Amino acid sequence: MKIFHTINGFRNNLSVDRCQGLRIGLVPTMGNLHDGHLALLEQSKQTNDITVCSIFVNALQFNLNEDWDKYPRTYDTDCEKLRNAGCDYLFHPDDTEMYPNGLDTQSRVICPTMTDVLCGATRPGHFEGVTTVVSKLFNIVQPDEAIFGIKDYQQLAVIRRMVEDLCLPIKISEAPVYRESDGLAMSSRNRYISENERPRVTILKESLDWIATQITSGNRNFSELEFEAKRRIEKEGFSVDYVTCSQSKTLELAANDDIEITVLGAMFTESARLIDNVSVRMI
Ligand code: AMP
Repeated sequence: MKIFHTINGFRNNLSVDRCQGLRIGLVPTMGNLHDGHLALLEQSKQTNDITVCSIFVNALQFNLNEDWDKYPRTYDTDCEKLRNAGCDYLFHPDDTEMYPNGLDTQSRVICPTMTDVLCGATRPGHFEGVTTVVSKLFNIVQPDEAIFGIKDYQQLAVIRRMVEDLCLPIKISEAPVYRESDGLAMSSRNRYISENERPRVTILKESLDWIATQITSGNRNFSELEFEAKRRIEKEGFSVDYVTCSQSKTLELAANDDIEITVLGAMFTESARLIDNVSVRMI
């Protein structure tokens, strides 16, 4: 695996690959890699000649009160995992390489829909940081395909919309959620969950699954379903950020005649904020 820390060095190398007609897949991450990330990589390898993983903990998508400074950075272990997984290139820039003019004056990519609801409501500016850094990565790598996890459903929807709106010639592919054996979605932030809370955090997924089953069996009283799911989560001692039934593509509130519905949820433990989602498609 070749490792690049600078945009120029990386571009020079990629241009040779591109001249040879090789197809390039990109998996953007913030590092602290787990099996979910590695599955994205594996997916890229299936359809691309070269697979690039980027590791960059993007300050622009964190709010001031969030965990940018304590976000787990495990570079050496990540490199080993990527090598074992057969990653071709790792792009690991530092903050000055990605934001040479600082964060405040950085030009931004703004996606005006879908970004102020759900996670965007609790984390103002978060998706602007995401779309900006992902655009920069797209411009640096110019991949044929980029793979994102359904785990971050809203992020995936926003990126799809950005790519459509800006006519970017990149195929956006999605990868299923990787879970621990009890159903908890793998996440770098799971390490913030205390031992005592750990057995109970599965309530988030269980409550979303319960709503999905209700919807599948014809119950369209979304607000009642959301209310009951919140009650179940709170009963386990967690505070709910949101539980919402949304239209899968636009993330607008689900309506009675929607065929594709995604139920999204976020809750706070003592020191972590966990998200999950489940989609239902009516036949
Ligand atoms: P992150 O480094 O957590 O920002 O995630 C980088 C990419 O990995 C994003 O596309 C995430 O959606 C994806 N990802 C994170 N956790 C999982 C998971 N448990 N299963 C599948 N993909 C994931």
